[in-house]
Amino acid sequence: MNKNVTIHYPQDEMNTVLLPVTTGCSYNKCSFCSMYKDEKYSEVPLRDIEMILLHGYKYTEKVFLTGADPMAIGFHKMKAILDLIAKHLPYCARVASYAAIKSIAKYSMEELSILHNAGLRLLYIGFETGRDDILELMNKGHTVEDAIQQGKKLNRAKLPFNTIIMYGIAGEGQARDNAIATAEMINQFETNKVITMNLIVFAGTKLKTMVENHTFTQASRNERLIEIQTLLETLDPEKEMEFDTTHPTNIIRIKGKLPKERQRLIRQLIN
Ligand code: SF4
Repeated sequence: MNKNVTIHYPQDEMNTVLLPVTTGCSYNKCSFCSMYKDEKYSEVPLRDIEMILLHGYKYTEKVFLTGADPMAIGFHKMKAILDLIAKHLPYCARVASYAAIKSIAKYSMEELSILHNAGLRLLYIGFETGRDDILELMNKGHTVEDAIQQGKKLNRAKLPFNTIIMYGIAGEGQARDNAIATAEMINQFETNKVITMNLIVFAGTKLKTMVENHTFTQASRNERLIEIQTLLETLDPEKEMEFDTTHPTNIIRIKGKLPKERQRLIRQLIN
């Protein structure tokens, strides 16, 4: 899951209880990420999670599971956590979590459906890009085909998810091509929302070394705007979907529904 130096939980989740499930990142190899570089991966024991819930506000309505990729803990522990939330926070209507494509791949459609019925109502997934060469360059650990398959599986399990992508990730001269490939990937499944982030080169990352070695050249601001515009022009959801560039890393803040507000969003972008 892509996060940056400061943890920015999704803005929709600001009024929710944050429940720690993992620390560090079970993968920790993405070229652009420095978030958990010096932190060892571990899972919060169930007894600790229950203690937090026991001392929680009984009337809590939303819980966000924290950690780079809480779905990495596997089906049985995730189900146990959802059951504990239902037991101690009986008014909780929605549990949301970050998730990585490679973790979702470990769950069957039936397991995802069981988790949905047990209260898991929204995942935030780092798809990043629809180009295999860029996924490989950024060492994301999944392919475009993996991403499409997992997106479709979540659709079959009726487990909603938001799609996080990153413009600028393909570097200089690649904006249009990356946007088209990414939009075409997203057009293969149903997602509640596309959340954009802007590539930032952080100290201590492999990407920083690539920039210093001139093996990666960053896209200009103008190219990044073209990338957002191309995404808006190419995304073609069957079901209404939100497009949201309000995460703090973004160079411009726009938000609206696709396809009906496509023209308004493009006007806002180019004006
Ligand atoms: S999965 Fe990748 S982007 Fe997400 S926290 Fe781990 S290393 Fe960073």
